[in-house]
Order: sequence, then structure tokens, then C-alpha cells
Amino acid sequence: MNHVQSIRARLEERELDAMLLTHQANRFYATGFMSSGTDGAALITRSKAFYFTDSRYTEAAEKRLSGVFELGTVTAKRGYETLFNEVIASENLRRVGFEDTYMTVAAYRKYREKLSCELVPAADILKELRQVKDADEIRALTDAQRIAERALEEIYNDLRPGAVEREIAAKLQYLMLRYGAEDKSFDPIVVSGPNGSLPHGVPTERAIRDGEFVTMDFGCVFRGYCSDMTRTVAVGHATDEMRRIYDTVLAAQSAGIAAAKAGVTGKAVDAAARDVIAAAGYGQYFAHSFGHGVGVEIHEYPNASSLNEKPLPVGAVISAEPGIYIPGKLGVRIEDVIVITQTGRENLMAAPKELLIL
Ligand code: ZN
Ligand code: ZN
Repeated sequence: MNHVQSIRARLEERELDAMLLTHQANRFYATGFMSSGTDGAALITRSKAFYFTDSRYTEAAEKRLSGVFELGTVTAKRGYETLFNEVIASENLRRVGFEDTYMTVAAYRKYREKLSCELVPAADILKELRQVKDADEIRALTDAQRIAERALEEIYNDLRPGAVEREIAAKLQYLMLRYGAEDKSFDPIVVSGPNGSLPHGVPTERAIRDGEFVTMDFGCVFRGYCSDMTRTVAVGHATDEMRRIYDTVLAAQSAGIAAAKAGVTGKAVDAAARDVIAAAGYGQYFAHSFGHGVGVEIHEYPNASSLNEKPLPVGAVISAEPGIYIPGKLGVRIEDVIVITQTGRENLMAAPKELLIL
């Protein structure tokens, strides 16, 4: 996962002498070294790469980065701006790209005042590069999915009338960590019965009842990459209406996945799924987009939404997650993650999707 070369290629195109990376996800993408929050910065020039962090991370950074990155340690007396300025002077950097969509106003003001170079907005370089995953990234994404699926398989044993949403959510997190996840990729959503109509509902103390849907949307982080999946299952029994709604969502998901290939816009993929739900008479109950990019971050580019008129590239990894949400009554969402390939698309998910009645 050494992406230094691809960032460098973009520097030339953009007439930049270097790219400054302070955002956690971009730093990790460029270096393969994970440090949290604001604890680190990478500076990639056309011929060299630098990584600065503080003493808590120095030893780990050396192990991961030496040979590729020149390392520097930030201290109370020598802050990031001092280390940046030393490189700016020694490498004669004039135009340095920065992450305009991530950097805080305060940090920007400080760097603009203190750094002896021109700061050029260039976050889109990383945004675009990260849209196309390489084989190693796809392996990490797939492994992350396998961990989540293993947790799902096991949580099915706990789904019965009387089970509490919060307990299911807590156990899903435990199981993913138990099976090798580094972290959760977001707070799990576990919603049952009428709570299911909240697409991003927070798990409550509600006990699941017989004849209700339970929607579980959850994921983990493995080797720095996120998984994301949703399964909706029925507990006890399912009414004809529940079956009809479930089958409609599943048909919409299949249509969206079938439409997803390189060169097709995110908008067209979204429309293929949306049309199925509208034709079944549930159009007003599917308000969110079909999917989003998944990678180092749980939500990244490209989106499979009505707003994305750009064609999907080979290597894009997107979620496929249509849903129907009837307020006060029920909700169904089914989510897989797919990768756009040369010949079409591949589903990274192995978990079955026929309506499961537990
Ligand atoms: Zn999800
Ligand atoms: Zn998602």
C-alpha cells in the first residue's frame, strides 16, 4: 500500500513541489502507518518523502516507514511548522498542496502565516486517488467484510423475541473485535419493528417482538480498511406485506448492482435501484442514495447517488444499500459492498440475502 508514487505523479500534473498531508485517512493512505487524529504529518515532495510525528509514535513509525520516509520528531520546542520549514528550505519548495477540505481554519491560518511557501488547495488529488483501489486494498476490504460476516453469523443465535437492540449492537462490536477487527468502522445500527423506519437510528433499550424486522448495519476496520454491511431479518414470522417489502428492496439492490460497471455514472446506478422501488409503489419511502464509496474511511468517494454524474472507475468500491422505510411501521435495508472490475463488478460480500426468519 505504498501510494507515494501515485501522489508524486499528480504533483507534476498540478505543478506542485510537494503535498502536505495532515488528515488521518490521507496520511494512512500515503504511508500505510496509522496514528490517530492530529498526531502526524506527511510531506511528499517530487523526490523525497517525510513523516513527522511525536515521541509516542517515533519507534512504531521507524519500523513501518524507514527506508521510504525520512522521519522527524516533533517536540515542544520544534513544532510541525518548524520541521516543515526546514524541508521547504532544504528542498526549495515553492508551491505546496494542502488538504483544503480537511484542514481547520485555525491550522490554515497558522501555516499560511508561518510556512515560507505558497499553500495550494489540493485535497482533490487524494480524493481522486483513493477512489481507485489496488489489489492489496481490495484484499483488506474483503478481509474486513469476512470478519463482519462471521460476527453476523453468530449474532443470529441471539436474535429472538425479547432481545434488546443495544445488547445486539454491543455484542456485534465485541464479536468483530474478537475475530480480529482493529476497530468498528462506525457505531452499529440495530433497529427493530417501528424503529426500523429510521435509516440511521440509534439502538435503544427496546426489546424485539415476534413478527418484526430487525435491521443491523455495522462494520469493522481491518488493516486500516472499513467494512460496511446491512442485513434485515424477521423474528418469529413475517407477514405478506413484510415479505413484499423485503423482496422489493432485494430486487432493487440486484438491479443497482447489475447496473454498476465502469463508465456508468453513480447516478445511473442509483436510478436502476430506485426505479424498482418506485415501480412497486414505495418510491416515497426510499429517500437516501443507493451507495457510497468505502475504503480507509467508511464514507468516501465515489457515491452511487443522483448527484454523481461522473462515470465509476475500475477499482471503485461502493456500497449497494437501498431501503424502504415506512414511518412508525417498519424498515428494510440490505447492504453489500461491491468493487467495479474490468468486466463488471464483484460482490465482496458472501453472506446470503434471502429473507431469513429466525
Ligand atoms: Zn452500512
Ligand atoms: Zn453504507
